[in-house]
Amino acid sequence: MSEFTVIVVIVLLVLGGIAVGVGVVRALGRGTEALPPLTGDGNGHFELVGKPVVCQHCGRQEFRARRVLLNTWLMSLLRFDWLDSNATLLSCRHCGALHWFTQPVDERR
Ligand SMILES: [Zn+2]
Repeated sequence: MSEFTVIVVIVLLVLGGIAVGVGVVRALGRGTEALPPLTGDGNGHFELVGKPVVCQHCGRQEFRARRVLLNTWLMSLLRFDWLDSNATLLSCRHCGALHWFTQPVDERR
């Protein structure tokens, strides 16, 4: 193994360690943000700060919700993308327009 290869491996290991450390800190810090809750009624209707979520394209109010990963290239390269942040994606049931929110859906409404 050449000296250059050893240096490249060491740099990749250091970058990987930093990326994993940042990911773990982010994962541990989730839920501490003071964002208003995104609530759902279980029938595809959602509300945020006292207002119904309305499709920006067609104006309807029925969505499908799912949590999605917000991948970063380094975490994906190191196969640690499961440590990346995630978001709630609401897709309009009528036109398919996508609406992104950082907080999870609270279905207790
Ligand atoms: Zn729509």
